[in-house]
Amino acid sequence: KSKNAGRNCFHIYSAELKAEADQRNVLEIELREAIWRDEIEVFYQPVTELGTGRVKSVEALARWHHDTRGFIPPTEFIAVAEAGGLIVELGNQVLTKACRDAMTMPGDVNVAVNLSALQFAGSNLVDTVTFALAQSGLPESRLELEITESVFLADTQENLKTLQRLKALGVSIALDDFGVGYSSLSYLTAFPFDKVKIDKSFIDRIDRCETVAVLKSIVQLARTLKLTIVAEGVETREQVGRLQSLGIPLGQGFFFSKPVPLADLSWQGPGARRRRQAAA
Ligand code: C2E
Ligand code: MG
Ligand code: MG
Ligand code: MG
Repeated sequence: KSKNAGRNCFHIYSAELKAEADQRNVLEIELREAIWRDEIEVFYQPVTELGTGRVKSVEALARWHHDTRGFIPPTEFIAVAEAGGLIVELGNQVLTKACRDAMTMPGDVNVAVNLSALQFAGSNLVDTVTFALAQSGLPESRLELEITESVFLADTQENLKTLQRLKALGVSIALDDFGVGYSSLSYLTAFPFDKVKIDKSFIDRIDRCETVAVLKSIVQLARTLKLTIVAEGVETREQVGRLQSLGIPLGQGFFFSKPVPLADLSWQGPGARRRRQAAA
């Protein structure tokens, strides 16, 4: 009897797995079509200077509105793109749009683009970035590339060389989602980053003294390494105050603005008023 139950279990489990795999294949096919039809949109979220309320940069975030399923979060479709060999093309589209859109933004606002570790593997990333800059006319100093420590997990030497060549172009490099990985402190010293983005999970727990202690040592290290710090996922005024007292200069999060389409970015509007109020 128990043997039968076990067998049933296996059948249910494998059927579930199969359904899941089928669904992922469908999603992959549909994503390929969406990329082909140039339907992936780019939204932008401001990064604000806490002391002045000024927008210093915007982060480009990919958006996919599925015909029938509606909005699919990037955490889901980026993984599908990576698994299905679509991430290089998707990444190029986002980069191209971000550089082009940045040309319509104030000249002192930078644009940040996320890179997947897979875009490093034999995809002429340096040429792609060079081309996107040339085609748009965006000064290289206005482009920031965000990577996670996953870039250092595979092909370390090759990826490090690519990073160095990117940096030599004059773009800046940010370490994203800092603090959630394995041995993050060592990654900070593995490359001369320009910026480190502290993961939202730290900001969520910023009222705890353990978190404050960790943030203090990150601020110290950032000073030593001469890199700037951004707090991700800032949602409350109280968090802004705590970040400022820690000496963290920049913040990004729903408190300031959600990611929005290019046309809805406000340098002066209500979003900007709120940013100025927070700074006051
Ligand atoms: P990320 O690069 O760390 O981007 C920040 C994410 O945090 C965004 O999620 C943003 O909407 C969200 N966020 C910002 N402020 C807040 C807040 O105050 N509260 C909360 N709850 N969330 C906040 P999103 O747009 O869903 O993107 C998720 C991740 O998907 C990104 O994390 C990034 O790793 C990846 N991603 C998005 N677009 C691209 C892309 O074009 N290329 C690649 N390779 N990855 C991308
Ligand atoms: Mg990012
Ligand atoms: Mg991040
Ligand atoms: Mg994050």
